[in-house]
Amino acid sequence: MDNFVRVRGAGEHNLRDIDVDIPRDAMVAFTGVSGSGKSSLAFGTLYAEAQRRYFESVAPYARRLLQQVGAPRVREISGLPPAVALQQRRGAPSSRSTVGTLTTLSNLLRMLYSRAGTYPPGAGRLEAEAFSPNTPAGACPHCHGLGVVHDVAEDLLVPDPSLSIRDGAIAAWPGAWQGANLRSIVTGLGIDIDKPWHKLPRKKREWLLYTDEQPSVLIKPERDRIDYGYMGMFWSARKHVMHTLADSKSERMRDRALRFVRSVPCPDCHGSGLRPEALAVTFRGRSLADVNTMPFSELVTVLQPVAGAGEAAVRLCADLVARIEVLLDLGLGYLSTGRSSTTLSPGEAQRLRIATQLRSGLFGVVYVLDEPSAGLHPADAEPLLDVLDRLKAAGNSLFVVEHDLDVVRRADWIVDIGPGAGEAGGRVLYSGPVAGLEQVPESATGTYLFGRAEPFEHVTRTPQGWLHLGGISRHNLRDVSVDLPRGVLTAVTGVSGSGKSTLLAETALLSGEFDRLVLVDQQPIGRTPRSNLATYTGMFDAVRKLYAAQSGYSAGRFSFNVAEGRCETCQGEGFVAVELLFLPGTYAPCPSCHGKRYNAETLEVTYRGRSIADVLAMSVDEAAAFLTDVPAAARGLATLREVGLGYLRLGQPATELSGGEAQRIKLATELQRVRRGHALYLLDEPTAGLHPADIRLLLRQLHRLVDAGNTVVLVEHDLDTIATADWVIDLGPGGGDAGGRVVAAGTPADVAQVADSATARFLAPRLA
Ligand code: ADP
Ligand code: ADP
Ligand code: ZN
Ligand code: ZN
Repeated sequence: MDNFVRVRGAGEHNLRDIDVDIPRDAMVAFTGVSGSGKSSLAFGTLYAEAQRRYFESVAPYARRLLQQVGAPRVREISGLPPAVALQQRRGAPSSRSTVGTLTTLSNLLRMLYSRAGTYPPGAGRLEAEAFSPNTPAGACPHCHGLGVVHDVAEDLLVPDPSLSIRDGAIAAWPGAWQGANLRSIVTGLGIDIDKPWHKLPRKKREWLLYTDEQPSVLIKPERDRIDYGYMGMFWSARKHVMHTLADSKSERMRDRALRFVRSVPCPDCHGSGLRPEALAVTFRGRSLADVNTMPFSELVTVLQPVAGAGEAAVRLCADLVARIEVLLDLGLGYLSTGRSSTTLSPGEAQRLRIATQLRSGLFGVVYVLDEPSAGLHPADAEPLLDVLDRLKAAGNSLFVVEHDLDVVRRADWIVDIGPGAGEAGGRVLYSGPVAGLEQVPESATGTYLFGRAEPFEHVTRTPQGWLHLGGISRHNLRDVSVDLPRGVLTAVTGVSGSGKSTLLAETALLSGEFDRLVLVDQQPIGRTPRSNLATYTGMFDAVRKLYAAQSGYSAGRFSFNVAEGRCETCQGEGFVAVELLFLPGTYAPCPSCHGKRYNAETLEVTYRGRSIADVLAMSVDEAAAFLTDVPAAARGLATLREVGLGYLRLGQPATELSGGEAQRIKLATELQRVRRGHALYLLDEPTAGLHPADIRLLLRQLHRLVDAGNTVVLVEHDLDTIATADWVIDLGPGGGDAGGRVVAAGTPADVAQVADSATARFLAPRLA
């Protein structure tokens, strides 16, 4: 049997009708500058086609719906096994999902407690479901298994205690007629509504805010307000807020009410979400709630010595320990099963999924991975690669979209796409064993992989002063003090979980001495297809004015948020939502405007022969040429090109951009308005998802910010980037409780010599 996946005529996005043969049972790296088309081939074509075939086989009725969404543009693919995608960013995780549910460890722990737990005298055995906060049998009746309850807080209900009740001291009370009604009732109860809140007796204040009592008071007629007397019923602030949250049909009212509540751990289950009967069961003296908050590194010792236990316990413990050991190998020993998945970094979440796959026992599958090394310190990347090798050894294929050259070197095969991005990419430059890429001069990947790149020119700067950060205690940082140099570029380094992001967040809070704080993160620039590159950067305002000037219309007509000029079918979205049973909702092009978003009259207005929809369809590079005479747009376009985003289309919806693209758009938007000054720029892993050639472009911009007098701080794993920093703060030495200290601080050369530093060993060779 021929052991290749053969792709013929792939044309998804920018791919140019490519043919490529990719070996199975191998680790294949897909490389190329960002925007070259790697993901379009690996995810958009190979994975999408495997998915389509899978759904067709299990659910023929889905065929019609899938046709609306569209099959990938490819003539033929043969030899394609079923595929599993492990992507970095996949929708918003639910607050009910935890590390335990993600890894399925929770299922095993529940069985362990059900079958092998120690029950209180007289208690009956519980089913495994009774140990899950997500089932009716297990959920704490007070918080419904959420582990948190919402309660009002005085500082939120009464934000300004110097106000009187008449002037609105109780902000949580309704306004207008209902508010006036409550004030009349309070007066009727003999409470002075003109005294400042803080002057009222404590007892009265508490009663007004928290009581469950609802006395009725006769309200007498008042001039200008009420003609007849009536009985009015009192609502305390808490009762009003809780009633609104529970019963109001109005989203706006509920949103308003949420401003007055805070979530606190449930007092009944102490945050575990479990009912009391389940919490009373122990294993080796520990409740399931104890075990859920215990780091894996500790949990494994509780489960380890199983001698003497019953047969079920021995088997379950052995299975649990084997699974947890994979997590320890991957450097995730600091996590616990109860940690909410919403608090995980993308790199942590992906490693958890990879570890779970390793135990799933699948073989003959293609795993399509999106930059498995992103967000990983080189010390964490090693064990991850070992796990990938084990997946391969178990009979699977690995297709990995990757930029980290150390990972690329370990691949059996490389598919290099390029040479440029967007229109300038989309060709297969090379497909074969890694060494052969050296013979391909036009490959940017080859340039860096084989050491042909010019060294990055920079002059080391000296700090212009220091920001002293003292007594930082949060997550695993305990009373940490660190001096942050001003006017230079600092890299914060350390293994995963060492506390880098925590330090960055705390720095943001303590940055008062700077003129301005700019956080440039990888969060999406918008959550609906309505926001896009042009709207986010503000450039679209200039474009709309330009089109208004060509016609008698106002600029508003060229906004797809305004009824006048937009397509009515899709309300200016260009897409309509398609509901798929069992699948996440998805979008299909609008049948009326075919994605143009405007109505026919609006599209008749042209500038240099192009409509406004044509402009939105242009890449940044094309638009820069087209709009040279429009200074307000030209400047923004130039900065986008400088950070390597010339390939993006102006109208590209925010939902289609990668985290790295979103981050560079934010940076470019900032760069447009750079003036000399003392701003503090904080960036969390700006190089993640970038090809070494793109990292160069980004670095040049970051150094430019520092040259303009600003301070730049990056959380960073890329060693070449760290080597160009003026200062390094290395956290660690390990993750979680084994980290949280400043191991070394100084120039890259200083840090490279510190024996305790996990970074030093990798950094030293890059400074040679
Ligand atoms: P890479 O993975 O190499 O960074 P991609 O495959 O994501 O590149 O993108 C290749 C090209 O396709 C880029 O020009 C990008 O703007 C474009 N593209 C990506 N996703 C979409 C999409 N959903 N619709 C249209 N074009 C897209
Ligand atoms: P890094 O950025 O170096 O990977 P983090 O600052 O994200 O590390 O995490 C440091 C420690 O704080 C880890 O033990 C992590 O599990 C813990 N941590 C991070 N975020 C949260 C959170 N939202 N809730 C509880 N613990 C957290
Ligand atoms: Zn509870
Ligand atoms: Zn439309």
